[in-house]
Amino acid sequence: MAAGKAFAGVPVELSSEKVSQGSVLFVRVFDKTAKSVKIKETTYPLFESKDGVSKGVLIGVPVRWNSGERYSVEVDEKTTGKAVEVEEKSRKLEILTIEKSKLVSNEETAKQGKVLLAAISSLKIEKLWNGNFLKPVEGMITTEYGTRRTVNGNKGGVHRGVDIGAEEGTAVKAANNGIIAISRKHILTGNTIVLNHGAGLVSVYYHMSELTAKENQKIKKGEVIGKVGSTGVSTGAHLHWGIWIFGVDVDPFELIKKEIDF
Ligand SMILES: [Zn+2]
Repeated sequence: MAAGKAFAGVPVELSSEKVSQGSVLFVRVFDKTAKSVKIKETTYPLFESKDGVSKGVLIGVPVRWNSGERYSVEVDEKTTGKAVEVEEKSRKLEILTIEKSKLVSNEETAKQGKVLLAAISSLKIEKLWNGNFLKPVEGMITTEYGTRRTVNGNKGGVHRGVDIGAEEGTAVKAANNGIIAISRKHILTGNTIVLNHGAGLVSVYYHMSELTAKENQKIKKGEVIGKVGSTGVSTGAHLHWGIWIFGVDVDPFELIKKEIDF
């Protein structure tokens, strides 16, 4: 009986039932007619899967999902019987000193930040990324994702990406296929690229010495898009690499280590 089946819940598979802020949750729904997944008042679109029998979406776990809480996973507003539990995540602390001349006013930062955020939140429906992401430049991680910072003794924000130390001029590769949404100089993030991978994912590359890809250009995974530098507010040559999913920052290494494709 159809009604009975619906009551039993839509067949759904979660990559994990335990999540934490910055982690990536993969939801697969075994119903090709399903359109969306809803968790804690946010609705995420579902995308066609390569297997032809399911649909999927990657979701970044935001700060507003409270640790210790359980949120049910709905498909097209229907119950699935599945839920995710949010666990506390510990954060490292880093103390930074930046020359006064290199600091920029909040006003300037806010203005240019808006341009970046618009690109980061932009939603391209078509899925352009394929397979796992790659680390855009070889080098040591100098600041991990999620590190709390103080700048010149003042409370700074949380580091929403990873810093990879590398020599000035080292080639920076695209972490996956996509279209360049932004390729321009920003007062805070220096020479900046925002690469749109589709299906809600974008990757960002900051502080480069040179930009070699243009806005609206189609890019393949591994293609060179710029060179490592120290432009903007930066204390030495490095690449700041970040990944955002539907406007929520996540730990980029989650997309390298985990099985994420669908
Ligand atoms: Zn950084």
